[in-house]
Amino acid sequence: MSSLSNRHHTLIQALLSRGPLKEQEFYSIFSGVTGKTPTGTHRQLFNEFLLKINKELSFVQFELRACRNQYDGNIYYGVVNNVADEQSKLGTKYTIPQIAYYKAIIEAITQDATAKGSISNIDALNIRLENQVPIGAGSQSQDAPAQLPPAFKNFSMSQKEKTLEELVQDRWLCSTSDGNIGLGLRSFLDLRGWFQNNDIPACEVCNEAGIKAELCENEGCTVRMHGYCVKRKFSRVKAERVCPVCGTPWVHSVSKVEALDEDDEPNGSSQDQLPPGPATRKRVRTCRNIDSSALGSSSSQAPDPAPAPDTRRMTRSSARLR
Ligand SMILES: [Zn+2]
Ligand SMILES: [Zn+2]
Repeated sequence: MSSLSNRHHTLIQALLSRGPLKEQEFYSIFSGVTGKTPTGTHRQLFNEFLLKINKELSFVQFELRACRNQYDGNIYYGVVNNVADEQSKLGTKYTIPQIAYYKAIIEAITQDATAKGSISNIDALNIRLENQVPIGAGSQSQDAPAQLPPAFKNFSMSQKEKTLEELVQDRWLCSTSDGNIGLGLRSFLDLRGWFQNNDIPACEVCNEAGIKAELCENEGCTVRMHGYCVKRKFSRVKAERVCPVCGTPWVHSVSKVEALDEDDEPNGSSQDQLPPGPATRKRVRTCRNIDSSALGSSSSQAPDPAPAPDTRRMTRSSARLR
């Protein structure tokens, strides 16, 4: 870390100790330590700062990243652990059944074909850990009970409630404005590679995973876009409100599905300015079972050669861990 100055240290320490920080908050810390605002003419200085920090952090497998909170479109900065398995990511405070429970919730939310980005509390509590035990390739879930560890079998309703509460508090999950369970900021930051490797369908505009997104009205079309991306796209001069691929009129579906947060206008000054993350690729609207090791990003970097079926209107029940 010798090439980093105290100013770099201050930024890293703020992110590590206070968790993901809202863009403006991170900007003011940056301004505080450098005397420069990170927008406009000093944008390059800001980017150089981040690059330098990431160069050093990479030696210890950490990375400073930005992500959007898909429920309100705001940008957050945080440091993620790039190599550890999910157990280290979630820290030592969570038990193995709790981590399995977290993964099951993430799967249920990300693989929901309606892209509403959340599940109800009841659905979350009804998730059964039986389906989360690795039972070998090709096995069906009914084979699972024989190998079920007692800690999974005995994972009670109150343990689930407590785990949900803790995951929300630690920002791995969030409580959405309509009282459902959604992805927390740490998950948005941390699971980017996992979203890509598991073919979570991407937003047509920004190419990030469309967890909470609007779908094209045309059943045969796979286009989805984040609410804030739709607003930005259609607010441009005389933009036609149609699907960019099939031309079907684009109906603002947020209010129709579940109005999580109407005020989802992203910060205008920062749009398109996320620091470059790992290369993104165009993804198709497919889902596949999540390998139980996939939350560990080292394994999630490996390409998954398995062909995925077209599951545009797939139901949640068909998406479960092996
Ligand atoms: Zn988008
Ligand atoms: Zn379309």
